[in-house]
Parts: sequence; C-alpha cells; structure tokens
Amino acid sequence: MPERAPFVPDAANERLPATPTRAARRKRESAQEKRTRAGAIAARLARAYPGLECPLQHKNTFELLVAVILSAQCTDAAVNRVTPELFRRFPTPKILSQACLGEVEPVIRTLGLFRAKARSLKSCAQQLTDEFGGQVPATMEELTRLAGVGRKTANVILGHAFAKPGIAVDTHCKRLSRRLDLSRRQDPVKIEHDLRRILPPEEWTGFSHRLILHGRAVCHARKPECKKCIVNELCPSREVS
Ligand code: SF4
Repeated sequence: MPERAPFVPDAANERLPATPTRAARRKRESAQEKRTRAGAIAARLARAYPGLECPLQHKNTFELLVAVILSAQCTDAAVNRVTPELFRRFPTPKILSQACLGEVEPVIRTLGLFRAKARSLKSCAQQLTDEFGGQVPATMEELTRLAGVGRKTANVILGHAFAKPGIAVDTHCKRLSRRLDLSRRQDPVKIEHDLRRILPPEEWTGFSHRLILHGRAVCHARKPECKKCIVNELCPSREVS
C-alpha cells in the first residue's frame, strides 16, 4: 500500500477575512470567502489530527475493503474485534467467495446487519475473483460496482489504499459539513460535491478523515463541545453549545 505523508495545508490559509457569525450567516458568504474559511478549517484540523491512519485494522487492500463494508452502522472497535478471525479464516477473495454464508455469519454476528453484510462480503469476493483477478480495483466506477460498496466506502478505499483524493461522507462528515456551513445539503453525494468545489484535491482525503475524527471527539451529534473546539471561531454554528 503506498505510503503517504500527512497533508498539512499552508499556514497562510489562516489569514482570514472576518469570521462569519450568526449575523453574518444571514448574508451570503461569497464562494471565495467560503474557500478561504474551508482552507483555514482544514489547516487547524490537520494540526489537531496530523495522522491519516485508518482506524480499521488491515494488512492489505482486500482486508481494508472488507473492514469498511463491515463498518456500516458499527463502531470501528466492534469491526476490529471480529476481523482478525475473519481474515484468518478467509484471507483472500477466492477463499471468501467459496465459503458458505453459514461459515461467515457466525464470525461477524456481533455486528449489526450481519446477515446482509455476510451476503455482501461473499458477493463482493466473487466479483473480485471473477472480474478483477482477485485484486481490489482502483477507480470509483469499478469500486461502486462491487456488492456492499457505495461512494463512501469507495472514497475510503481510494484515499487510504491508493492515495487518490476522495471525500468519504459519513454521518460525522455530513453533520460537521452542515454545522460549519460548508454545505447545506442533506444528500451525502451532494455534500461530497460541495466539499470538492471548495477544497483542493490534495485535501479531500485528509479533510473528510479529520471531520470524522473531530465529530467523534468534540462536535458530538447531541452536545457539541464548542468551547473546546479548535475551529470555534470559524464555525457559524458555534452558538449551539
Ligand atoms: S464550534 Fe461547535 S458546532 Fe462548530 S464545529 Fe466546533 S463543536 Fe461543532
């Protein structure tokens, strides 16, 4: 898997126009002001969360793909508890494709939706074996043809396994993008496109990864800890605390 240095945006991004507040939110922020603010947010998050390691344990791209499919509506910790045994029993797409569902399901039964996930894993492994020579493909178009793989999963794989820029919009990335007023959309695909418009490609993977970390650590769904938030004065929603 290619090694990649963590991206740290230029500190010059910190030179900001006036920070939008609740009052400023009423008048529309220009596209350039939004890009400048997004760059400053990216710079602060990069300093707070410098690493880009994927929290899902894996030793190769196939294992990463399996772990990301399993992570839907589950914590990373829960996935990490089942994958060592899963990877030991089914180390390659071919072996997983030949397994019975009755062999896969017990290994992942502590995860939500385990029956559906077992079916997705087996179908995905079959596709990898039949159509991609047992390799995980490296394009969005090919990845999203695989069972159990949507744009979010594909973007995680592209970013973490192939060092290709991708914005993975999960529940945290969606919530923070909206609170930070970087997107007003509900649809994750539209949020992804909004973020792509205001950030350069080299920031996409790191930015979405860090929004997820910041959402877990500080900007909680129910009770965001705005007082200790490092992007506080760049956030139009900070009063919610
Ligand atoms: S200031 Fe509050 S609402 Fe805004 S990103 Fe930080 S924790 Fe979330």
